[in-house]
Amino acid sequence: MESLISISLESVSCPFCKSNESNFWVKENGFNAVKCCECGLIYVNPRNTQSVVDKAVTTGHHSEVQGGRNVVGRRSKRKVLKYQRVLGAIFKDVWSTNRTISWLDIGAGFGEIVEALSSLAPKGSQVHGIEPMGPKAQNAQRRGILVREGYLNSVKERYDFVSLVDVFSHLPDFRPFLLEIKKVLNNGGQIYLQTGNIADLRGSNDVPTQLDLPDHLVFAGEKHMIAYLEEAGFKIIEIVRVRNDTFVNFAKSLIRKIQGRQISLVFPGTSEYRSLRIRAQLK
Ligand SMILES: [Zn+2]
Repeated sequence: MESLISISLESVSCPFCKSNESNFWVKENGFNAVKCCECGLIYVNPRNTQSVVDKAVTTGHHSEVQGGRNVVGRRSKRKVLKYQRVLGAIFKDVWSTNRTISWLDIGAGFGEIVEALSSLAPKGSQVHGIEPMGPKAQNAQRRGILVREGYLNSVKERYDFVSLVDVFSHLPDFRPFLLEIKKVLNNGGQIYLQTGNIADLRGSNDVPTQLDLPDHLVFAGEKHMIAYLEEAGFKIIEIVRVRNDTFVNFAKSLIRKIQGRQISLVFPGTSEYRSLRIRAQLK
């Protein structure tokens, strides 16, 4: 029987090193992720064409996946509290000077990071968010959070700091995106970048969570992130590596597995999987 869903896919070379040599890594939601033979990056291939990616990014709905897939999610108060703690610690030196700053959170979602930063930044600071997914940005706006709906290239202002929390894997090609980031940063501006180190793992069985293909398109390792940033003219200030194979996440995975989700169980304390929290500065 012919599928009712029309899928337009394109084959791509490795977004990091442009090699066309890759090996199958994992299949999820009907999409394949492959591992580059040259540099080890993991990326969805073949992947949705840019127009299909854009549609999902702005609406929060993947109509190209069998049965459809909604990725809007909902606002998390816990996330606000978590990032008050995380960014409070990593940028302690910034908050302690009491000088006003400007900060743009890119891929701001429901505005949780903007909320967290607003409580940390000295009075008079400007903290904004930019988010392409309409339902998320509009939710933030209704609650009075300064999240603008749109893509990064619509931002005309410049900022002292930008952050990208769990945004990297949504981007088909990080290199041109980094150039756009540089355009909104002041001289000597800083970036906070957070993503997983999935390309550093031995195999897909070590991933203690779902990869969320095709919403996530690219998975890097620590060396890729450092190279991307240094090549774009950033100097790494600090990298914090946080374990995700905790008892709490193990329990969550177990429940999902029982519910029939495609997920591998990774025992606490056994995985190389880390969340990378990177702070870097334009030279
Ligand atoms: Zn590569």
